[in-house]
Amino acid sequence: MATLALHGGTPVRRQMLPYGRHVLDESDIVAVTAVLRSDWLTGGPKVAEFEAAVATYVGARHAVAFSSGTAALHGAYVAVGLGAGDEAITTPITFCATANAMLHAGARPVFADVEVASLSLDPKAVEALVTPRTRAIVAVDYAGHPAQLAALRAIAKAHGLCLIEDAAHALGARVGERRVGSLADLTMFSFHAVKHLACGEGGIVTTDDAERAARMRRFRNHGLSSEARDRQTGARWAYDLVDLGHNYRLTDLAAALGLSQLARLDANLARRRALAGRYAEAFTGCRSLELLPEPAGTTSAWHIYPVRFDLAGLGVGRDELLSALRAEGIGVNVHYVPVPSLTLYRERGYRAEDCPRALAAAARLVTLPLFHGMTDADADDVIAAVRKVVAYYGATRG
Ligand SMILES: *Cc1c(COP(=O)(O)O)cnc(C)c1O
Repeated sequence: MATLALHGGTPVRRQMLPYGRHVLDESDIVAVTAVLRSDWLTGGPKVAEFEAAVATYVGARHAVAFSSGTAALHGAYVAVGLGAGDEAITTPITFCATANAMLHAGARPVFADVEVASLSLDPKAVEALVTPRTRAIVAVDYAGHPAQLAALRAIAKAHGLCLIEDAAHALGARVGERRVGSLADLTMFSFHAVKHLACGEGGIVTTDDAERAARMRRFRNHGLSSEARDRQTGARWAYDLVDLGHNYRLTDLAAALGLSQLARLDANLARRRALAGRYAEAFTGCRSLELLPEPAGTTSAWHIYPVRFDLAGLGVGRDELLSALRAEGIGVNVHYVPVPSLTLYRERGYRAEDCPRALAAAARLVTLPLFHGMTDADADDVIAAVRKVVAYYGATRG
């Protein structure tokens, strides 16, 4: 049996393969450079163009860009009136920003447990937590797999709630033929550097609701009644402050970068899908790890590739498994530590034990590298390292 690199053996690869990485080309550099030579650096014509392109791509009437996905979530929550005294139900298996933005809006996050197979919000668990204070359900398209939107929409409708989708992982994912972005009342996408459309920082909310879109436009711009570009280019100089907002504007530089990559998004998604297929082929039937299935009737954006290892069967702790894979040159990661187990939430009285399925699954989660710039040989290194590590612990158990 091969000696693990962790124990001084030869690593599967010398250069660490990251779990995710952006891919930019010359056309992106040209697009950003053109903005540097133009009259606008902050939100201007490129932001408007990017918003229109994303709205068209997902099939929504409106798109409002923000300086980050977190700011976009905050804007979406405020746009549906989420505030002090309100509750919003979401999943514990998400990035903390999903819930933090609820706290920023003054509302209380409520965590419902996930389904065992998909690790996505269990509609039955959501319905059981609806109270007179509940105002919204926030679904997360974990790993790029669409959440159970139809069931969640039915619950939202029955109780008069808003359905908001955190689709930070899921730009380009589909349910049937329809892309996410047109399936919830409001949908948030993130363009953080490691997301599959990368502006460095940035986010957007898509919706069919003109009033909520207008509210988000004010919210990202201090609460002002008009935007600087309208005042500079239009006849009107006048402005008024009508709500309390933030400076959450996206820059034209970032928008130009996003717009340029949008042209390659479908090709990038196809590449991610092929890599995920390569993993599935290698690992299906391997008893030591469980894959996250693509939900029936959906097309995932394959944003990340989390698997659950049978740590008990292998007789190894997750920390050591992560160290062993990293020593082999595979940049594994964890998505996510359940939000209610994070210190801030524990100090506010949350207990991850209230979501036992999420807690049990999260302890076994390991994210394998997946990004559209990966080669087949990179994926084969991941497969070889997983097999090597699993063979070692499987054989040395006890
Ligand atoms: C990335 C991410 C966010 C936040 O997006 P930022 O653009 O980094 O602020 C929110 N939710 C999920 C699930 C994410 O992965």
